[in-house]
Amino acid sequence: MTEATGIVGEFFSLKEETDAELVAMQCGDFYEFFGEDAETVSEELDLKVSQKSSHGSSYPMAGVPVDDLTPYLKALVERGYRVAVADQYETDSGHAREIVRVVTPGTLLETSDADAQYLAAVVDGGSAGGSSGSGSENAYGLAFADVTTGRFLVADAADADDALTELYRFDPVEILPGPGVRTDDELLNTVRERTDTTLTLHETEAFAPKRASHTVREQFGTETVDRLSVGEPTLAAAGAILSYVEETGAGVLASMTRIQAHHGDDHVTLDATTQRNLELTETMQGERDGSLFATIDHTRTSAGGRLLKEWLQRPRRSLATLEERQESVAALSTAALARDELQDALGEAYDLARLASKATHGSADARDLLAVQETLAVLPALADAIASNPDLADSPLSEIVDRPDRDAARELRETLAEAIADEPPSTVTQGELLQRGYDDDLDEVIDRHEAIKEWLDTLADREKGQYGLSHVTVDRNKTDGYYIQVGKSAADGVPDHYEELKTLKNSKRFTTDELEEKEREILRLEERRGDLEYELFEELRDEVAARAELLQDVGRALATVDALASLATHAAENRWVQPDLHQGDRLALEQGRHPVVEQTTEFVPNDVRLDEDRGFLVVTGPNMSGKSTYMRQVACIVLLAQIGSFVPAKEADIGLVDGIFTRVGALDELAQGRSTFMVEMSELSNILHTATEESLVILDEVGRGTATYDGISIAWAATEYLHNEVKAKTLFATHYHELTGLAENLPRVANVHVAADERDGEVTFLRTVRDGPTDRSYGVHVADLAGVPEPVVDRSRDVLDRLREEKAIEAKGGSSSEPVQAVFDLGSGTMQTQATGQSQAHAASTDGGPMGADSDTQPTDAESDTSPIDPDTEAVLEDLESIDVNTTPPIELVSKVQELQERLEE
Ligand code: ADP
Ligand code: MG
Repeated sequence: MTEATGIVGEFFSLKEETDAELVAMQCGDFYEFFGEDAETVSEELDLKVSQKSSHGSSYPMAGVPVDDLTPYLKALVERGYRVAVADQYETDSGHAREIVRVVTPGTLLETSDADAQYLAAVVDGGSAGGSSGSGSENAYGLAFADVTTGRFLVADAADADDALTELYRFDPVEILPGPGVRTDDELLNTVRERTDTTLTLHETEAFAPKRASHTVREQFGTETVDRLSVGEPTLAAAGAILSYVEETGAGVLASMTRIQAHHGDDHVTLDATTQRNLELTETMQGERDGSLFATIDHTRTSAGGRLLKEWLQRPRRSLATLEERQESVAALSTAALARDELQDALGEAYDLARLASKATHGSADARDLLAVQETLAVLPALADAIASNPDLADSPLSEIVDRPDRDAARELRETLAEAIADEPPSTVTQGELLQRGYDDDLDEVIDRHEAIKEWLDTLADREKGQYGLSHVTVDRNKTDGYYIQVGKSAADGVPDHYEELKTLKNSKRFTTDELEEKEREILRLEERRGDLEYELFEELRDEVAARAELLQDVGRALATVDALASLATHAAENRWVQPDLHQGDRLALEQGRHPVVEQTTEFVPNDVRLDEDRGFLVVTGPNMSGKSTYMRQVACIVLLAQIGSFVPAKEADIGLVDGIFTRVGALDELAQGRSTFMVEMSELSNILHTATEESLVILDEVGRGTATYDGISIAWAATEYLHNEVKAKTLFATHYHELTGLAENLPRVANVHVAADERDGEVTFLRTVRDGPTDRSYGVHVADLAGVPEPVVDRSRDVLDRLREEKAIEAKGGSSSEPVQAVFDLGSGTMQTQATGQSQAHAASTDGGPMGADSDTQPTDAESDTSPIDPDTEAVLEDLESIDVNTTPPIELVSKVQELQERLEE
């Protein structure tokens, strides 16, 4: 590479200094990118590239005006680039540049997105090389910071799965993996697969336990940190984040006033898969619309929206906390007028936490401070509205709006009200930011400035009157400064002391000594006013920054009222009811509905009843009858109850759970290209390990991702284990009709089915859930609808009827003289074949109990061995066996089965 000198040379040496992918270097009124950076930026953002020559070589160059940098930065960072910003400063010999900030996804302050923007760090305690003194060695530590609001949270995680769950919950835009995590490919790959986060390797020293812990104590105070009682890895994560925020120069450390521990104990376990399955914040297709959050969100402020989302992602277990929210929601849902009033007031509120962060960073302008002032005024408005409604006044809402220091908030608001002009400009260096009366010196400057402006404004009239001129105007521009412009016709009659500046087509421009004198003065005053106002404004902004914690408190109170009012609005508009919460085992919903599906469908309500003696429901019913919807509806209702919300039901009695686990069988997920049978099984295994007696487990067609016998066996065994060992409240939807037999042997298992009506071969889905197992499978009907040839459909009906009568099936068309029967034996979990004419008492038995429990109904070896299957049939069976259900697309499976059936017919 040729040695570039001058500006280009400076650019390349800055590039060497930083690990950022792009450097934006200030050159006067522009930020410039050179070389490859210029090409990258122009490709990404459609900027024009020009050539800059330096010492005989030419370099691509692209630039953006200084005032426009923000949107470009934002766009580049959102595309995953780290951008270093180098500002220009004056030196004795001219200009020099220095990198003042590295903007990354997690440190971008200029976001316009209302969502939280978390920067995360995750540390593996096992391999952090720290002392193995306290706590479990393999624990993980996590920290999350939102630089735009100053929110800072830490969490211990028991293992990698736990860590993933939290990462998924906070959905960070950037993650700093600790030294141990960097080599953990499994964890990193999962993170990459499930999120579109940026992984950044921050210097390893920042994760060193001693240094990190020191950093955290410096920031939040030793006592606070001790009270958190979180593990060493967690402090390491927190310290690494602080050092990263410092190093990237976001300048917002001061807005991080509080560190909060996110304790698993009080939160409902909601692993990543469950959050996704329940479509909490986005649908399976990744859309926001149609998610539970989008459905229930009626918040008026972005902070309120963020809080409501956080509630959904982190449901609670504390009865007291939930009842407190319920009380507020109950009061707000009936007090419609007062609620409107509150929401109108909230409509005036800006994002205080974000404004506090901007003030701390020094990027808040006068309009931002005006927004702070206006938002601070919302608090007393809310307090008044609450106080004047007896129901609201009696609710916890009163306490919520009293939590921030109201006096301090009022003082700050008054200070700002006396300071900031009514309609300040967005530039902070050119005056007109502050009001008269705020500062004596400033007042004097303003008075003189205004007086001279007045003199200039009236000059044209005076000149007209005094010298009898017509067509006179006074104006200013960049080249001529202030001038008196006289129309051509009158230009000859100007007095002698007029000095001509230039001649235009229809007029002439003049100046006078006096005008030049005034011009000098007004420029002096403008500069003085700009400087003085900026100085005063900066003081004011620092004063606001010093109140970051107060602003966060007020912001929190407003957001809380907003979130509660949103829950109340949704409850009132959709006739949701307040659930009865308790610590018991009972879960009873009368006429429950699915919170999202009910919005778009004429929904058929359904009951659910689970209690001590009936803790496990096997849900059967034809395809598309509503099994999945029914189960998700139960999970969503419990989840809503545990954020303090009302629920879509006529009556609800809900025992609090400590975790919600949902799994959808791989086949359903396979269709979306998401999952494999292996994933399904490892997730099932995770549930069997982590769910407790107080958890709610939803299994949807689990075991379906493999060949039938495997699937039934797994489903069967998992049911036994969940029932006998875990004892979790469970709903298990299955198309394995055989599983309904479990109810006879396992005392807490009950069957329910989604009813469908079959008349004249037509199926009507009733969507009603009833007790007892479904009596038939409607797969044949679906096959008919799908256009499977009639002989096959007819034959299927025939086979099905025989199966229902628990008769052996005769395989048609065999060459052997004796028809063969194939029977699935639940006892052994294998396929038995036997010749007909033998006893038919060995058909599939559903009263056999758990696998292998009784062997006396099994056919004897002698029986099953005597009649070999004819070779053609055997070939079909072999082909059947060789189909890999996991890799064959569903469509192909159908035609394959069809083909096999046809061969059997022959
Ligand atoms: P399954 O899991 O039994 O195959 P799904 O739960 O996927 O069935 O439901 C199939 C369709 O029926 C979905 O489109 C769903 O919206 C609709 N549905 C399910 N339950 C109800 C209900 N209770 N009322 C109205 N529509 C329903
Ligand atoms: Mg389903």
